[in-house]
Amino acid sequence: MNDTPPDLPVTPVRVATAACPVCGKPVEPRYRPFCSKRCADVDLNRWFGENYRVETSEEPTEDPA
Ligand SMILES: [Zn+2]
Repeated sequence: MNDTPPDLPVTPVRVATAACPVCGKPVEPRYRPFCSKRCADVDLNRWFGENYRVETSEEPTEDPA
């Protein structure tokens, strides 16, 4: 018989600002839902890229910046 752990109380996470889905930085209102135009472009390229690149074995390289 296992002791079932008590349900943990749902701790509300402090979310001051939404995070950029691309890099996780705070979102700039003018670039919502991204933090910058660069990240908006990155996300756009992802969607377009999926149409052009079909199942390659190459891993996407990350910008060292
Ligand atoms: Zn970003």
